[in-house]
Amino acid sequence: MRFVSTRGGDSAGFHDAVMRGLARDGGLFVPEALPDLRPFLAGWVALPYAELATRFLRLFATDIPLEELRACAERAYAAFPVPDDPAPLITLNGAGRPFPIHVLELFHGPTLAFKDFALRFLGQLYGRAVREGGHAVNILGATSGDTGSAAIHGMLDQPGTHCFILYPEGRIAPLQERQIACTGSAAVHALAVRGAFDDAQAIVKEILGDAAFSAAHSLTAVNSINIARILAQCVYYLRAALRLHGPEAGAAPLEFVVPTGNFGNVLAGWLLSKMGLCALRFRVATNANDVVARFFNTGRYLPGAVHASLAPSMDIQQASNFERWLWYRFDGDAARVRGTLDTLRRTGSFAFGEAPGGGVTAASFSDAAILGAIREIHGRTGYLADPHTACGLAAALDAPSASGVVPRVVLATAHPAKFPESALAATGLAPAHPTLEALASRPVVKQVLPATTGAVRRAIEEALGGSAAA
Ligand SMILES: *Cc1c(COP(=O)(O)O)cnc(C)c1O
Repeated sequence: MRFVSTRGGDSAGFHDAVMRGLARDGGLFVPEALPDLRPFLAGWVALPYAELATRFLRLFATDIPLEELRACAERAYAAFPVPDDPAPLITLNGAGRPFPIHVLELFHGPTLAFKDFALRFLGQLYGRAVREGGHAVNILGATSGDTGSAAIHGMLDQPGTHCFILYPEGRIAPLQERQIACTGSAAVHALAVRGAFDDAQAIVKEILGDAAFSAAHSLTAVNSINIARILAQCVYYLRAALRLHGPEAGAAPLEFVVPTGNFGNVLAGWLLSKMGLCALRFRVATNANDVVARFFNTGRYLPGAVHASLAPSMDIQQASNFERWLWYRFDGDAARVRGTLDTLRRTGSFAFGEAPGGGVTAASFSDAAILGAIREIHGRTGYLADPHTACGLAAALDAPSASGVVPRVVLATAHPAKFPESALAATGLAPAHPTLEALASRPVVKQVLPATTGAVRRAIEEALGGSAAA
């Protein structure tokens, strides 16, 4: 299958689209056409997770031999405690609503957040490229939260691959720093820069923008816009729909409620509604950074300043994957996408005449509402949610009555033990997890650097000096 740019000026096969990440015209890759999954659903109902992923992804990754794709999927999900069921579906009893509420737990991977689903798989694809091409792939990224550690864990078992992760010294949560700096791997380089996240991000952009340096050190960006991440995320939605509705999954109504920041997670589910599962509905849940929620409620897209919230992985005002949604909404008219982005750049906003509808509703929640939702759900059902998942639960509880008795599936995006302060404030309980406890006893191995491009370049050169020869 070919992948085309949302801005109309580039196309690539699956392998190249994945390795490039961003299209040459600055757009995002989308599949040229979407398959109709309905003929496959009956045969897919009982498959183990990695096999379902293989059957789904082979429709897109047509330039990877099937057995290799299967090996990538199997290795990706072998890192979960129950590889055949890495995304358990829990039914909440006692929530006090006329419709069933289920929770799709996506936080059982190595870093206890949903990004493991996509980055474990992407790491396998990079590893395969290293073996095929015989040259290294080294990852460079800046992180303020979960992406950096998920990228590291996706790449950990790929020989010959180094990860350089920049973060602002002293400004990320101690547990998050430990997930980056306590891996025990000599191929992971935790670079704590003395500055803000924006400084780290600017350094990464500058280094990746230096084509000669990037090529000499085989540097690749880790970012949220890789098409492989989106497609890997489709699989857990598909599996949940098959679990609840069996072969009828194409026609039976179901509403997914998705904690949202960059719009990558919800976009993956929404794509399934264009692949024959047309009864799926989506509810976007944001924290106080409500740019996407406001758009779906009013039709006006108006990013503002970023506010720090209790759900930091959703503290985003530029929802980068939104561009893909626009492309579909405009029926693949890249000129309209470019025009809309241009209006956004020139005026700071754009507007549809009305709320866009199309099976998507939205709501946003303040920190107080997040704590209230954690408390209410825990009180009624005994279920303890993290602050990101709590936005989803709150949005499920307050769903408009027009949506009737359709079952809701809330995506649980992080383990509550990653954010113990919120749980404590809401319920008096401090959740723990053995993975995080084990980190506490490991030494932090990091380099603290000035926030300059030169210092980071030297760290990369020193690290690769002995191993870049391959
Ligand atoms: C990244 C993240 C989100 C937001 O996902 P998007 O794909 O950016 O919408 C939500 N919750 C957690 C825990 C995350 O790490």
